[in-house]
Order: sequence, then C-alpha cells, then structure tokens
Amino acid sequence: MSNPTPEPGKVWLVGAGPGDPDLLTLRAARLIMRARLIVHDGLVDPAILALARPEARLVSVAKRRSRHTMPQEEINALLVREALTGKEVVRLKGGDPFIFGRGGEEAEACQAAGVAVEVVPGISAAIGAAAAAQMPLTHRRSASVVSFVAGQCKGLSEQNWAGLAGKGRTLVIYMGLATAEAIADKLIEDGLAPDMPVAVVENATRPQMRVLRTSLAGLPDLVARAKVKSPAVIVIGEVTAEPQVEALRALALEATT
Ligand code: SAH
Repeated sequence: MSNPTPEPGKVWLVGAGPGDPDLLTLRAARLIMRARLIVHDGLVDPAILALARPEARLVSVAKRRSRHTMPQEEINALLVREALTGKEVVRLKGGDPFIFGRGGEEAEACQAAGVAVEVVPGISAAIGAAAAAQMPLTHRRSASVVSFVAGQCKGLSEQNWAGLAGKGRTLVIYMGLATAEAIADKLIEDGLAPDMPVAVVENATRPQMRVLRTSLAGLPDLVARAKVKSPAVIVIGEVTAEPQVEALRALALEATT
C-alpha cells in the first residue's frame, strides 16, 4: 500500500525583532526553540538563531556577498513545499513580518497552496530604534504623526511623500542608506527645511548600535563620513532633537571620530 499523503504542516511567519534576543515575543522564542526547520533572512541576529535546537535545520535565504537574495518566488515555493510534506516551518524575519518584509506575499503563497499560515508580530526596526535611542516617535511637544517608508523601492522620485514629514510629523525611512542623497533632495524640494533634524540609527538594539545626528541637508555627508552600514533607519523630524536624544550625541560623535 502506498503511503497516505501526509497531513499538511504549517508555516509560521515569525518576527524576530531588530536584533536583541530579549526583544523577541514569548511566542516567537517558543517557536524558535522547538522548531525543526527555520527559514531565515540575513537580518536575523545570530544570537537569535543560537536559540534553535542543535538538530534544527536552518536555511538562510540571505544575500551572500555579490549574489542576490533567493528570489521571492523560490522562498515562497520552499515554504509551501516543506509545509506540504507535513513540516511546521518557522519563517523567521527581521523586525515585523508585515513591515517591509514581504510577509504578505509569503502568506498569500501559503494560502493559495492550501497551507495554514500564522503570523507572529515582531518589534519593527523603527520601534526598536526609537526605544534604544530613547527617541519617542511621537511626543506631545513635537510630533503626532509617524510614517514608515521604504527608501529603496523602485521609482523613488515618483513616490508622493508630501505630508509625511515636516512640522509635527516623524518620518522613518527603512532601507534608505543607498538613496539617502536622493531622499534628502526630494524632501527639500518638497518644501522641508534643510535644517530639519535627522537621526540615523545603525544596528538598533545591538551591542554595536550607533545613533548619529545631523540635519536633512547634512544627511548624505553624514552617511558617507560615518560610513553608516546597513541595517540602519533614518528618522526625520523634530523628535530627533528632543533633549534625551541630544544626550546621546556626545556618544555618537565619539563613535564617528
Ligand atoms: N521587517 C523589518 C524590515 C525589513 S526591511 C522590520 O520590521 O524591521 C530592512 C530594513 O529594516 C533595513 O534596511 C533597515 O532600514 C531596517 N532595520 C532592520 N533591522 C534594523 C536594526 N537593527 N537597526 C536599524 N535598522 C534596521
């Protein structure tokens, strides 16, 4: 008799947070610790992967040197294939799976294939960076709106960011290092003051975190001079000049010199 078709497994889209393992949700930590198969991207901190069981299979779909990330369709296919053989797949993603993580596409692929999928939220980079830099994203004094945008997306110049930054508003840019100059130019063209305060938070919540301060006009130069590396978020708005952030400035200057 042939083997019956296995019961389909399940895909867990799990947010790993910005880096510090202590910032995992309990649910994420439990899933990682019991997983047999973890499919993770490059942003997931090694300290988090270290929580997996020694016999767990860890599959990285990360960028390797000059090679590109595994194409999204292949990642989707991998998740579906493994789940259809009855496995529980932990798909571990940096930050939150549904903030610039293409978690939506993975969930759709699973649903289309009849695979059960569950999403475990994670602390997104903006939220982790704000806490670690003691920089509130909203503040009664300085901001009542916060927006997250992707700086690395196609057709940056065609995007309409009008109204997302300026007085009373905080704009957090993910994946914006390579396009920092174009972003600064675009926002200044849109009418933002060149001296609008800006903070760049590199490696937020990790031991090597840096918090760098500048102005919108000074952003491209800062990114180049301080050799800011991914992952980093760029925060634009008056909240970055609140006194508690100012206190970190000396530290940042030390780090750059
Ligand atoms: N899903 C993730 C974002 C993925 S896009 C989340 O919710 O955080 C990748 C971008 O996230 C990076 O280019 C960077 O802008 C940001 N990022 C992720 N981890 C970060 C960290 N520890 N510090 C600063 N920025 C981070």
